[in-house]
This record gives sequence, structure tokens and C-alpha cells, in this order.
Amino acid sequence: MSKIDSVTFSNSRRPRRRFQKSSGGRPARPNGTSPAAARPAPIQRPATPEQLEAIAASAFTKVGLAPALVRSVIEEGYETPTPVQAQVIPHALDRRDVLACAQTGTGKTAAFILPILHHLSAAGAKNGEIRALVLTPTRELAGQIAESARVYGRHVEVRHAVIYGGVSQLRQEKALRASPDLLVATPGRLLDLMQQGLVRFDGVTHFVLDEADRMLDMGFVHDVKRIAKALPGHPQTLLFSATMAPAIDSLARGMLENPARVSVSPKVTTAETVEQSVVFVAKADKQAALRDVLGDEDVERALVFTRTKHGANRLSKQLDRAGISCEAIHGNKSQGARERALASFRSGATRVLVATDVAARGIDVEGISHVINFDLPNVAESYVHRIGRTGRAGAVGRAISFCAADERSLLVDIERLIRTRLPVTGDPPAPEPAPAPAAVPNRAPKKRWRRRGARPS
Ligand code: AMP
Repeated sequence: MSKIDSVTFSNSRRPRRRFQKSSGGRPARPNGTSPAAARPAPIQRPATPEQLEAIAASAFTKVGLAPALVRSVIEEGYETPTPVQAQVIPHALDRRDVLACAQTGTGKTAAFILPILHHLSAAGAKNGEIRALVLTPTRELAGQIAESARVYGRHVEVRHAVIYGGVSQLRQEKALRASPDLLVATPGRLLDLMQQGLVRFDGVTHFVLDEADRMLDMGFVHDVKRIAKALPGHPQTLLFSATMAPAIDSLARGMLENPARVSVSPKVTTAETVEQSVVFVAKADKQAALRDVLGDEDVERALVFTRTKHGANRLSKQLDRAGISCEAIHGNKSQGARERALASFRSGATRVLVATDVAARGIDVEGISHVINFDLPNVAESYVHRIGRTGRAGAVGRAISFCAADERSLLVDIERLIRTRLPVTGDPPAPEPAPAPAAVPNRAPKKRWRRRGARPS
């Protein structure tokens, strides 16, 4: 049995559920389709004596969370807090600011949503003011965070709303009028609404900046600072970032007061839960190599990364032609097309999703058995984000990276970052033949010569 044979990505590897899920379960809606305003789910049946016993014994109770929230996470099948949750939740419950270095896949969403729900529900309803604001860079992440708020908050009375760009504003205005306690938003649309006077932050006591490094990469830093400035006094602030570049440190210095510092090392995540390998392959042979990999029945659900939007489109068309059903998502696709592609990938109707880095950021699909780097990323950190889509929350996944001759230096950067030599198959790629010189009209050299000659040197 290969290592992959021994891995199943169904719930059999997930913690066994002690209770029946009471609704929906893990954020499972297509991204961004959470209702724009969600009323708190009606309180479900009171907990049974068995449930009360499990809640009392749960490690989530030991970190200080309210029983109603512990009940939800147990219903989700979570048995113990992940390292980032174990470290962040106690500080957040103590109302300390937190600077956390943790990437997607570590359970960071629950690490900030649970303490917020705890505080908001303990404080009881306030006169219709937004009391917690979560900023996140992409609409997919915003949808997922809102869905997590719905799932984890199903036994408490906390309303949430989600707003992001690329869709009509009307539904979101309506959601804001419904007085959410918790608002999840992307910075651009939020600023728009602020400038139109449609959203006020007088009552905000909790502020989360999620994926701060991505916010900076995507050029949102000024928007974020303007939004933070509009918050009253100093709300409790939690800043999450996958990397701790100097720019994040300086952003954190301006926003956090005496923060507790938490770090969940990406090295542990990648090494422990993802089997990584590299295939040396000539650029021209990559498609055939990909078809080979996808032909293996171990590949239950594969996310394939390309460097460019154009590359993602081209590759998905070629796979389609080869009879491999697949979808592509990237920044040029409409919100509707992205959601449809993700929904079909989630449901298993499509086995292969081709994506670019920005589009894939925040994709949280369970059971991705393989991440395939058709192109290596230009930025080594993106490799860690990419492979974090598989091997999530303790399951084991596989990451296979194709490396052509002109990508050797990118591979060196990645290995340096993760401080690991990756196992390689295939022959070291010979340098690719230099591209034929672009056809230059015969006259061109003459022109240059003439121009140069015209100037006295
Ligand atoms: P995140 O890093 O927030 O994107 O979470 C990654 C995945 O981990 C999600 O699918 C969560 O449902 C799952 N998860 C979060 N916390 C736990 C936990 N304590 N135990 C098991 N799974 C978890």
C-alpha cells in the first residue's frame, strides 16, 4: 500500500463526532454565498446530559470558552484546540491584543471567531451596533469566515453580516440595516460603504486583521489603516499573518498594544501533514506529466497551481480536451463563475481545480488529496500557502511540484524557506534551449547603427 493508499480524506480520518451535527456542519456553502445578514440560528434543543458531560470534559472548556461554543465545536468533530487555537484563545479571552503568525489550515479562523463570539454573547445584545469587525483580503475568505461564525455561533445569539466587492451592494446595505453584531468584510467595499455613510463603528470593541501579509501584497494597506483609524478608541485587536515580514511588524506596531505573540511555524505544518516531492520535467513535457499524475486513482481531489491567469485558462482547456473534467478560477473570472467552480469542486463533481495564487488564497475545501504545482511560484512563501490547501487539520496530503530548468532557482528559494531538501524524481532538467530571437526586421540594425552613428561619441 502506498503512503497515499493509506490516507483517506473522508471523515474517517477526521475526529469522530461525538454528537450529531445540528445543522450544516463545517462551512460547506459555496464561498461567499453566506447570506449577507445572518440571524442567529434559533437555539437548538438543550444539551443532553451526555453532551453536557462532553462539554465539561472538553479541552475547549479548559481554554475558557463558553459551553454553548464548546458544544458547537464538538458538533463539528473537533476534539482538541489546534496549536494556534490553544495559544490565541486564552489571550483573546483575556482581551489582550494578539500578533499571530499562522497560515490558513492551522485552524486560525476559529482562533479569532470563538473568542469574539464568547465576548459578544456574554455582553448580550447591544442597541444594534457593530461590535466586532473582521477584515480579510478576499471575498472567498470573507465568505468562509462568515460561514464559520454561523457554524460556531449556532448556539449563541450573535448576528453577523458579510460584505465584499464584486457583487451588488443592495443586499449588503440591507444586511447592515439588520444590525449585525459581527461584520466580516474586505477592505475596498467596506471603505465604499463607509464613505457613503452606510456603516458606523461607534460600538466596535473587537477588531481582527486576517491574512495581513496578503493585505499588504494586494495593496490594501492604506485602506486598512483608514478603516482602523475610524474605529473608536482602541478595540481589542488580533492580527494574523502567514509570514512576519518587517512590513507586518511595522503595521503591527501601529495597531497593537503590548500584544501577546503567537507563532505556529509553517515548517511543522508542511513537514508533518504534507508529503512533498519535486518532479524535474522539461517545460514542454509538463502537461503530459500532469495527465500522468491525474490518471492515478489516488488523486481524489486535486488543486493545480499555475503562475498566470492565462496559464490557468490554457491548462484547464487542455485538460478538458484530454477528457479530464476540470474548472479554472482566477481573478478575471466573475464572482458567479468562481463560486460555481468552487461549488462543483467541493461537491466532487469536478475532481481538478486549476487556480492562480491569489484566487486560491483562502480556498477551504476539505479532502484535497493533492496539490500540484504545475508552475513553481515566484515567491517562496506562496509555496507554503499552496501546499497548505492539502493536509489540513491533521489529515495527510500530497504536494507534487513540477520544476523545469528555468525554475531551479525558485526551488532553491523554497527549500531555503522551509529548510528542507525535497525529494526529487526525474533527471535534473537540462537548460531549455534559448528562445529563438524574435523576428527583427532586417532594417533594424541598420537603423540603430545609423542612429548611433548620427551621434558623435
Ligand atoms: P482555518 O485555518 O481556519 O482555515 O481552518 C482549517 C480547517 O481546520 C477548517 O476546515 C476547520 O474546520 C478545521 N479545524 C479548525 N479547528 C479545528 C480543530 N480544533 N480540530 C479539527 N479541525 C479543526
